[in-house]
Amino acid sequence: MVRSPEAFKWYEVLRSGPTGAALTLHLPEPAKTPVKLRNVIGLLRGSDRVLSHTYVLVTAHYDHLGMRPEGSGDRIYNGANDDGSGTVSVIEIAKALASLQPRPRRSIVFMAFFGEEEGTLGSLYYARHPVFPIEKTVADVNLEQVGRTDATDGSKVSQVTVTGYDYSDLPRMFRLAGASTGVRVFSDRPYGASFFARSDNASLASQGVPAHTLAVAFDFPDYHKVSDDWRKIDYDNMARVDRMVALGIMMVADNPQPPKWNEADAKTEPYVKAWKEHHKQ
Ligand SMILES: [Zn+2]
Repeated sequence: MVRSPEAFKWYEVLRSGPTGAALTLHLPEPAKTPVKLRNVIGLLRGSDRVLSHTYVLVTAHYDHLGMRPEGSGDRIYNGANDDGSGTVSVIEIAKALASLQPRPRRSIVFMAFFGEEEGTLGSLYYARHPVFPIEKTVADVNLEQVGRTDATDGSKVSQVTVTGYDYSDLPRMFRLAGASTGVRVFSDRPYGASFFARSDNASLASQGVPAHTLAVAFDFPDYHKVSDDWRKIDYDNMARVDRMVALGIMMVADNPQPPKWNEADAKTEPYVKAWKEHHKQ
């Protein structure tokens, strides 16, 4: 798109309809500025001698869209719901679980990913350069958009949906946690399947780790706009959701049986294959 005032003057002298006029543009090469980004990781070591060598990931992405290059008024993409809500939930859940005595049996890894909005870059990097062995990583619980209850398709108070709900038995553990904390955990068909592949959980799933995204609202009025602002977060509901998630994570961390892919669902085939690759012999 050509926006300069000189170019506009040029268009204005042209008559409407086809023209034989030729336009020559001299544009500089696109500039690349390398930046160093990091996934941020916290570890709560498990209390069980054996299970502490296995890991449950709790993740969310800390990037958003940066700044609008031009225009008046607010130009900052705050990303309060997407995904400030997920990131602060990871921190709050970490704080709560770290205070437990005894600690959960498996180790729990709390991680904030970079670059989700640029194509899940941070989680893809982690999946290829894991800090904790992939074959010892039993689950990834990824949090996205857990702050807003005013979804485009109605109120989502006390509701959480899990993407790829039937792909593994992990979502059902969260449904049990929801039953004891007053949160309805359910499968949002038909979106749940398409959103499964659209967030950071997919990077871990591609390595065979049962990995899902938990969200309150997939679509909300300020999605990817500068108006995705902290004032619009439903904090009471987010606290209730975080209690449910924390309980679900404790259940996964204390259960000697790790979550399993549902092999009866054909859509899990690539994930099951990857899981088997990592668990040979
Ligand atoms: Zn997001």
